[in-house]
Amino acid sequence: MKKKFFRIVVLVLVLFVGYKVVASGMSGLNLGSFFGDNIKRAKTDNGWNLILVNQDFYVPKDYEVPLLELSNGQKVDERIYPDLQQMFDDMRAEGVNPEVSWGYRTHETQTRLFDEGVQYRMDNGHSKEEAKRLTSEAVAIPGTSEHELGLAIDVVDNGLSYATQPMYDWLAAHSNKYGFILRYPANKVDITKIMYEPWHFRYVGKEHAEKIFNEGLVLEEYIERLN
Ligand SMILES: [Zn+2]
Repeated sequence: MKKKFFRIVVLVLVLFVGYKVVASGMSGLNLGSFFGDNIKRAKTDNGWNLILVNQDFYVPKDYEVPLLELSNGQKVDERIYPDLQQMFDDMRAEGVNPEVSWGYRTHETQTRLFDEGVQYRMDNGHSKEEAKRLTSEAVAIPGTSEHELGLAIDVVDNGLSYATQPMYDWLAAHSNKYGFILRYPANKVDITKIMYEPWHFRYVGKEHAEKIFNEGLVLEEYIERLN
């Protein structure tokens, strides 16, 4: 009887230790990406406005965005709204007529946009791998888009589906005073891995935007400095 009890205790111990080993191994597993890179979840320690998502960091798990709907139906994180409104008011006062063509995007919408991009390139003769790689330079991989954070805006001319150079110039020169940064500058593609997007602005708050602007950094470089 004692021997049997001892065996059961050993068996339970073996199962428990085995479970722990498997569980710790699993928590260290990559979430996986299209390219087999080490994809991790974005950190939130620096505050909601400094969450860095890119090809290396996914939108935090179960991240919830307090949404506010703009007059044209687009949505943004409500915390960026006062500065966004002020920026647009000041642009209009100077004869520039901006509109948010894309604000917040659900993960499903981002996935659809990415898949459409891949399909388009495959239809044009690229292999699936190649189509995914090319698409990822123009459309963020689902889960890695700042639009899923509600902190990014794509800006176009009111009533048009594109922006004109004066609008890009205005935004590039002044958006930092309202807490926004040009997120994908032409000279930092090697770091951001995203092509130059003169229409895409990311909210980080005035204090950080000012520093990022004055020092000519991208968010990746700025966050690395903070940590
Ligand atoms: Zn965008």
